[in-house]
Amino acid sequence: MKSIIVHGGAGTISEDSIENAKQGVRLAAQAGYNVLLKSNSAVDACCAAVNALEDNPIFNAGTGSVLTLDGKCEMDAAIMKGSTLEAGAIAGIENVKNPISIARKVMEETDHVLLIGEGASKFASVMGFPVYNPVTEHRKKQWAELKERLLEGKDPHWKRIKDLIKKHPELLRGTVGCVAMDDSGEIVAGTSTGGVFLKLFGRVGDTPLLGAGTYATSSGGASATGIGEGIMRTVLSKTVCNFMRMDISAQSASAAGIDMVTNVIGSWAGIIAIDRRGNIGFAKNTKSMPVAYMKESMQKIEVSI
Ligand code: ASP
Repeated sequence: MKSIIVHGGAGTISEDSIENAKQGVRLAAQAGYNVLLKSNSAVDACCAAVNALEDNPIFNAGTGSVLTLDGKCEMDAAIMKGSTLEAGAIAGIENVKNPISIARKVMEETDHVLLIGEGASKFASVMGFPVYNPVTEHRKKQWAELKERLLEGKDPHWKRIKDLIKKHPELLRGTVGCVAMDDSGEIVAGTSTGGVFLKLFGRVGDTPLLGAGTYATSSGGASATGIGEGIMRTVLSKTVCNFMRMDISAQSASAAGIDMVTNVIGSWAGIIAIDRRGNIGFAKNTKSMPVAYMKESMQKIEVSI
């Protein structure tokens, strides 16, 4: 059964960005679904959808990724195949256009699962990916404004950044992800992000950590978004996959996963999932999370914000 869902990050979207965000996820779901129709490959479909989101500067992944405290763009991404548990991930990579495509190369061309920093950039170059600057003027401006606000306090360390994010969840919005299923029952999950605004240099989020931001098994796949530290501590994507393995539907599993983050950690999160029957699920505890999905039994792509 062909099925696909994408997200554009959990957080808050300003009124004037809602239509762009909806259109962005719709186009990405369409790009991924077109690939499913053409090649019936969940890996190809997941990458096509995430590439479309990474190339859209309104989302915090690839072009338009947010900047670290010292003004750099360090991106994370992961992809995982449910049938074999093969996976590839990169963390803290700089100067590339499509982090998910490099994570896929790690999965398909190496014996490793996770490459970081300079090594990841070196690997990308060996794989033929050109150097690319993903920093947009808009993000530079936001960075300068936020940094100034942060520095108004006395102690600009992570706790304070976390408080800032708690107060302004719109700072988080933008990580992207996809779960796709093809006719062979292969389920693939992929996630890509610039991380969180003003993160400390070297900080790795949940996205590239298997089980936290991204996970897939033969009975379901999931991609998470929100404050990475809370997602890591609840191993959110794997938790939702475990629920689906117990034959809980993608929707109930997603809701139960988010309940856990809310009640146990009290931080922001969102998740998308597909179970072995091709059912789609998503849940969030933030004001918004742009989502678009499509499966064989549907007439057209549905979008939710
Ligand atoms: N989960 C991402 C991170 O913590 C951020 C996000 O989803 O917006 O790196």
